[in-house]
Amino acid sequence: MHMNDETLALVRTLLSSIKEKSPFYAAKYADFDPAEVASQADFERLPFTTKEDLRAAYPLGLAAVPASEIVRIHSSSGTTGVPVIIPYTAKDVDDWSLMFARCYEMSGITRDDRIHITPGYGLWTAGIGFQLGAERMGAMTIPMGPGNTDKQLQMMMDLGSTVLGATSSYALLLAETIAERGIRDKIKLRKGVIGSERWGEKMRRRIASELGVDLHDIYGLTEIYGPGIGINCEASEAMHIWDDFLYCEIINPETGEVLPNGESGELVITTLVKEGAPLVRYRTHDLTRFVVGACPCGASYPRIERLIGRSDDMVKVKGVNIFPAHIEEALAATTHASSEYQVMIDHLNGKDILTVFFETAAVGDERLRAEKELHGIVRAKLSLSVVAKAVDLGDLPRSEKKTKRIFDNRY
Ligand code: ZN
Repeated sequence: MHMNDETLALVRTLLSSIKEKSPFYAAKYADFDPAEVASQADFERLPFTTKEDLRAAYPLGLAAVPASEIVRIHSSSGTTGVPVIIPYTAKDVDDWSLMFARCYEMSGITRDDRIHITPGYGLWTAGIGFQLGAERMGAMTIPMGPGNTDKQLQMMMDLGSTVLGATSSYALLLAETIAERGIRDKIKLRKGVIGSERWGEKMRRRIASELGVDLHDIYGLTEIYGPGIGINCEASEAMHIWDDFLYCEIINPETGEVLPNGESGELVITTLVKEGAPLVRYRTHDLTRFVVGACPCGASYPRIERLIGRSDDMVKVKGVNIFPAHIEEALAATTHASSEYQVMIDHLNGKDILTVFFETAAVGDERLRAEKELHGIVRAKLSLSVVAKAVDLGDLPRSEKKTKRIFDNRY
């Protein structure tokens, strides 16, 4: 994406003192002087900052201000070993609340709304982010935190909650429980603000229809403030990103090269005004693309597509990058396929062969047509010829945790 003069000025200000302020960047940039960066091209030669770098800085090695200026820390979940700790100054917290309030406003939420917050509070950035933004805007917050569905629904009815902040899985659980208990007419929700993990279209439709709400995808990650750095407006499914606080790039996750506007790749973010722990070219591993052109809502903030996955989930077949989301989209577009599938990639006689097994209730000729249909859709969408194999419903393995969908047998 083109770096405008304003952004370049902010980047240059950031880089002019980063070695002085941040021992982390002083070490990372030991061999060169980032103050010499004078153009977008110079900037794009700077090394990336990675999650591993951040882990190695545990506990407070990322701090770029004296400890007396740090007013709080947050931490990303340490599911894979050492957690990452992000220190915030008072200005960082203030900026974050401004961005989050802007998210609510962008999604048509006002100070007259009653915002029911179900993500967790504590080290995690989610609950407190929803809270900060709502208080800044002046809406009533109902800081529930997670769990205890009975109490959630009781409060929702008694207080007349109009906005639900939740993860997609908890929103689905609430929606199902509301449907089961037949209490939909007692629920006043009109909007759902849902954390932007990747979630399928079928799930989205169920949550929206069973809760009777408009859904908005809110984006963010603990390393970069937390949720609230972008959201989709009422006119578009793509998420606007607050480019007065952040500079975004889309890179090829394999080569690190910056991709032309509109191409899919990994989102890389630079914080422009963050004090506690500024980050330069941070690799998010989230896959998306810039949406080119003006948004019908009139806002000039750039937009990124809903996340299509994590760069760790990508496989390359015959020069085409494939993500689980691509296969899911193709299946959703077919008449007879269920949501369950498995992809096998093999190398035979010098050629890569990609086979998609999918479940269907169709039999006989109808099953052959279903296979042909899926083959055609994948070819049209990805310019890739695949082998489509229908199997009976329930034939593919199920898992309670994350089901492994793609098996790469080439190496
Ligand atoms: Zn818009």
